[in-house]
Amino acid sequence: MDDSTNKASLREPCVPGLFSEEGEPSLHGARCTCCDTPYFPRVAACRNPGCDESRIVPCTFGGEGRLWSYSVADFPPPPPHRYDKPFMPYAIGVVDLDSGLRVVGQMVDAVEFMQVGSRVRLVIEPIHHEDGRTFTSWKFKLLDR
Ligand SMILES: [Zn+2]
Repeated sequence: MDDSTNKASLREPCVPGLFSEEGEPSLHGARCTCCDTPYFPRVAACRNPGCDESRIVPCTFGGEGRLWSYSVADFPPPPPHRYDKPFMPYAIGVVDLDSGLRVVGQMVDAVEFMQVGSRVRLVIEPIHHEDGRTFTSWKFKLLDR
């Protein structure tokens, strides 16, 4: 059996439909073409109270952005969240993507490298392993390391 092919076929998103890793990694979001408000995940109607007319169209967000803030997860998340054991503390970033979306995501790099204002890139990476399967999620990777 070709082991590399097998590994690739066992890689799957932790939540289907939220993101894609084919080509450029991207989040499946939406934008209101009336008021330009970005949304992730997708919404059925615009929530901006100042918007005159909700006109939601699907779009994707990805590429680069800037670390606006972050927090450190020092203890394992409660169920239903899953993680690889032993638990390792990680940073959770709040990122302003250049495409206009502010979004939360786990950081790839170690906590000691976090610095507000750093440039980052959206990536799709493993978030945990279970029964020989690799579950992925979106994360952010520092560009200046
Ligand atoms: Zn709107």
